Amino acid sequence: MGKVIAIDGPSGAGKSSVSKLIAERLGFEFLDTGALYRAAALYLRRMNMPDESPDSDISRALDGVVINFKDGRVFLNDEDVSDAIRTTEAGHYASVFSARKAVRDFLLQTQRDAAINNDIVAEGRDMTTVVFPNAWKKFFLDASEQGRAKRRYLQLKEKGMDITMDEALRDVRERDERDSKRDIAPLKKVDDAVCIDTTDLSLAEVIEKILKAIGDRR
Ligand code: C5P
Repeated sequence: MGKVIAIDGPSGAGKSSVSKLIAERLGFEFLDTGALYRAAALYLRRMNMPDESPDSDISRALDGVVINFKDGRVFLNDEDVSDAIRTTEAGHYASVFSARKAVRDFLLQTQRDAAINNDIVAEGRDMTTVVFPNAWKKFFLDASEQGRAKRRYLQLKEKGMDITMDEALRDVRERDERDSKRDIAPLKKVDDAVCIDTTDLSLAEVIEKILKAIGDRR
């Protein structure tokens, strides 16, 4: 089992950019677990699976589905879905389906397997609580609601998507509410995680805080 740096936090707190850079800096692999949930939800939507379906139907539909990463791209049964999973609609359904036990069970082993032969930086909503409760280092990134909505807005705009600041705000609000209030693996800060409020920090400043907390002196 490799070393795991586990990073949780609400949407738009900057987890992905931070995790990617920390992984590069330390020579670790980067595990974007949100991408796994987005791809699973995309698959279920394509199968016309109603989100209130019984867990047994969801499990059966997901049986044999393969979601993996190659060269930083996300593949769903060998189809590159890296762009398709980044829309606000895909984020919405990822949040809806990720509250389902069948989906979480389906993705649990894939996430843990990523650390079998590699040191990893894993980011998501339950890295520190459920997937890697014994992680080497744990972090919780947070930011104000406005700050998170603005980050989400800029990310989607940069990808050429048509979105207003109000829609971005609604998206982060709605997803965070659902992600923190669900019964299974809700988003929460554990006592042994280092909490960083990224609202007024640059990416470089957040990276510096994390590297300092893990004792990297390069
Ligand atoms: O991080 P990202 O915005 O890509 O995640 C999309 C959705 O997937 C989140 O809103 C959350 O509902 C779900 N998710 C989760 N557990 C994770 C990662 C993501 O429930 N570890």
